[in-house]
Amino acid sequence: MTKDEYAIFLDKFCNDMIDISKRKNADYTGINADPFANFSSVEQRTICTTEQGFLTRMNDKFERIISFANKGELLVKDESVQDTLHDLANYCALMSGYLESKKHKENAFCKPCGYLKTQCKCKIEA
Ligand SMILES: [Zn+2]
Repeated sequence: MTKDEYAIFLDKFCNDMIDISKRKNADYTGINADPFANFSSVEQRTICTTEQGFLTRMNDKFERIISFANKGELLVKDESVQDTLHDLANYCALMSGYLESKKHKENAFCKPCGYLKTQCKCKIEA
């Protein structure tokens, strides 16, 4: 594969990744407006943190990729190694978006009083 061919491949890979992400997000989160709902549910159920939830799913994909690299094939044929790589890339994008969203959420609240900064009562952080 040349650099030009890779650029075309990368374009297709990213477009496929976006298509898959939109379809899966619609399937997993339903009418919920939160794109991370499927990942944060483990934290609401006190199973583990949302971050650990992401990492667990990423690790499952990683194990599958390692298995493919070692054996040259996958025994469960309904998900190709390309599908697995797309899923792993999507988990990276979702976790990146989640961390960004969490940072914004944390910055929105006044730490001393716990109110939204726009409704802060203590003015300590103001
Ligand atoms: Zn305050």
